[in-house]
Amino acid sequence: MTIARDKLRWNGWGRLGESVGFSRVRESYLREQLGHRLGLRLAPAAMPVALESIRLPPTKLGQSTLCALRAVCGEGGVRTSAFERITHALGKSLPDLLRLRRGEIGALPEVVVYPPDENGVAAVLRIAREGQLAVVTFGGGTSVVGGVEARAAPGQSGVLVLDTTRLDALIAIDPSSATATFQAGIDGPALEAELVARGRTLGHFPQSFEHSTLGGWIATRSSGQFSNAYGGIEELVVSMRVITPEGALRTVSVPRSAAGPDLNALLVGSEGTLGVIVEATLRTSPLPLVHDERGMLFRSFPESLAAVREVVQHGIPLSLLRASDATETELAQLLRRDPGRRFDLGALALRAASRAGYGPGRSVVLYGAEEMTRKAAGQHAAGARRCLRAAGGLPLGRAPGRAWRRDRFRTPYLRDWLLDQGLAVDTLETAAPWSRVERLHSGVIRALQDAMEAHAGAGIAMGHLSHSYRDGACLYFTILFPIDPARDLLQWSEIKREATDAILGEGGTLSHHHGVGSDHSSWMPVEKGALGMRALHAMKDALDPSGMMNPGKLL
Ligand SMILES: Cc1cc2nc3c(=O)[nH]c(=O)nc-3n(C[C@H](O)[C@H](O)[C@H](O)COP(=O)(O)OP(=O)(O)OC[C@H]3O[C@@H](n4cnc5c(N)ncnc54)[C@H](O)[C@@H]3O)c2cc1C
Repeated sequence: MTIARDKLRWNGWGRLGESVGFSRVRESYLREQLGHRLGLRLAPAAMPVALESIRLPPTKLGQSTLCALRAVCGEGGVRTSAFERITHALGKSLPDLLRLRRGEIGALPEVVVYPPDENGVAAVLRIAREGQLAVVTFGGGTSVVGGVEARAAPGQSGVLVLDTTRLDALIAIDPSSATATFQAGIDGPALEAELVARGRTLGHFPQSFEHSTLGGWIATRSSGQFSNAYGGIEELVVSMRVITPEGALRTVSVPRSAAGPDLNALLVGSEGTLGVIVEATLRTSPLPLVHDERGMLFRSFPESLAAVREVVQHGIPLSLLRASDATETELAQLLRRDPGRRFDLGALALRAASRAGYGPGRSVVLYGAEEMTRKAAGQHAAGARRCLRAAGGLPLGRAPGRAWRRDRFRTPYLRDWLLDQGLAVDTLETAAPWSRVERLHSGVIRALQDAMEAHAGAGIAMGHLSHSYRDGACLYFTILFPIDPARDLLQWSEIKREATDAILGEGGTLSHHHGVGSDHSSWMPVEKGALGMRALHAMKDALDPSGMMNPGKLL
């Protein structure tokens, strides 16, 4: 089992004992600066409750069901402790964390089971069906859209969480096809370690990489930080095996097929509503030996968007390409600043840039290449550099790229620190054709800002372009607003509703990579249309006629 949940923060992000690691001086500087920007004095939030203080009702499951589950999963594979039920009740979205920190968890699973293999998964689904239990498949539990909330539908007798993390083996390597087959409960680091040992990589690095699983990536249609080079997970999956309540479904391992509609495409993004993905065959790439990542400054976000589009449409092979809007550029600088240090090279460089005309409103672009040789990486980075300079960019050298690589899996720890300061942090993401990206950005920022003013009295909204394609790009928004403990969930849902309406109103998709879960499901008919929804429901009815798989999510 690769994920040791007792070593992870149950009501926040990441490993116990790890944090943003701010010094006291830096903490008080940041508190003051953020308060100043929000026009208020930050008051520390109430301390999160201890897990041990949360009282749970005993499991409603009878001994006969528990015995049947134990016969399949073994004594240790069937758990009803408070720790297991609480750590499998919710994911890692803002409302999930607010509820966990207060100890008001709401929906709880009756039992958490760890099947040892594919047959075990099939047997657990049979037992759950007989007992009219809802089944929530749980990988890393890093969903940020309510995808793993332990909620049963009316008429169901409770929730069984099926934790996939015992299914963590490398099954096969096919060197001549450059593919690898893994069980789906393996987590990011373990999967990548198997490939790296063979000189290969999957190249899939969502920011949650360290704590999420292959099955979760496929089920949510996830996308990694280097998707420009390797593609989203849908481009990396060759085939898979899924255990549904109606039996096993497998797709064929071939590079492409014209045998009708693509079943992989219907299963990728199915969010545990059709069955449990138990294994997948993946395309792998040679492990890059060098990377070259740099920064470039533009006078405005629209200018950097145009420059990034130029690079993508010229087909320059980059792995990293992202552009921060003015607020994010400024906030990133603020977060890096250490008032305890006498010399701040970054601040000096930006002061010089201001004198050169790159002042307020400026926007940073990060770009980089990963290759087998220094020469190839350098050539691609230099090609992008020429293109970006021609579009008006001012080179910032390698320092911003180095800082991004160093912090790329650490930034989520910041959310817990901000929550401790009484500030809520949430993220939203979408994608649109290039012709709409700029308007989408300004429209959503405006909607977020208005919604935060209305429901929280203040807020900061910022965004960046995180993934790009020839025909369009993904925009990723981050918001910060002061928490009102008496109505924090309402604050969040109102802001989320107004922002999501704005995203769809400006022609963006409901989600580029976080998925739908329960948080976005009410907007699905807007995106898919009535007939599209009927087709998706028909597929669900075929594979899960009793509606036991992850009710209330996606559809
Ligand atoms: C800090 C942070 C950063 C993130 N960064 C990114 C990012 O860069 N890119 C990105 O795409 N996402 C990102 N996410 C979102 C999340 O990590 C992804 O959705 C991830 O793919 C979820 O994987 P998981 O194993 O944690 O799945 P879980 O959270 O356990 O489950 C997610 C959904 O998939 C279903 N599921 C899980 N395993 C299976 C399976 N084997 N079979 C069938 N269904 C299954 C669940 O039922 C649920 O509906 C981030 C989340 C956080 C908290």
